[in-house]
Amino acid sequence: MKVKITDIQHFSLHDGAGIRTTVFLKGCNLKCPWCANPECISSKIENGFGRYISLNELESEILKDEPYYKTGGGVTFSGGEALLQIKDLEPLLKKLNINICFETALFVDGNLVKIANEYADELIVDIKMLNPENTKHVLGGNINVFLSNLEFLDLNKVTFRIPVTKYSIEDTLEICDLIKKYPPKKIEIFKLHNLAKRKYEILNKEFYTEQVNDLQIDEFKNKLKNVFSNVEIIEI
Ligand code: SF4
Repeated sequence: MKVKITDIQHFSLHDGAGIRTTVFLKGCNLKCPWCANPECISSKIENGFGRYISLNELESEILKDEPYYKTGGGVTFSGGEALLQIKDLEPLLKKLNINICFETALFVDGNLVKIANEYADELIVDIKMLNPENTKHVLGGNINVFLSNLEFLDLNKVTFRIPVTKYSIEDTLEICDLIKKYPPKKIEIFKLHNLAKRKYEILNKEFYTEQVNDLQIDEFKNKLKNVFSNVEIIEI
């Protein structure tokens, strides 16, 4: 069995607890204009981005870093939308005796979310916006899919990760209500950066520039903190 990846990053510090190995799976069913990994969106191998890797080779790559997992770390499957290839990954997930984290936008079939919840020690769930129209037009997703999938999660494992954009700011009240209804372990918010600009040029895609400033980020953070204390600003 093989899966499609773009990269394996060793010594990751921001994709779950401890020191981690992050596997970037190729393919996503959304089209966030600010995506930091635009080469992971298409499931096709293109412009030199992406390769197939066997589960045996992937296991060896992940276990190379095993000594570092004593920090509480482990493997994080990110992307792309990590859950789109979870059925192909399942034989490896069954074997791995280490901390497993998935990063997901949750706009996938609920059965895939149930599989992830079964194997995950941690889940990083992105909240990008909640307005149904914006979700459809900006992300290309159906917000009802995201909302119904929240029901399948063990919230004790969940970190909500929120990019601070004009869209998430517009939906602050709705996001606060959602957090009250589904209190996670932790919330991480982050400002968009331009590190992926070169990749957009290679892929011939337009690069999105967000105009949110530091004051707005602090205001957003404080509003979230009014309903949930464990909110952190991270740099990714
Ligand atoms: S869900 Fe993640 S990988 Fe997919 S387009 Fe959005 S930011 Fe990129």
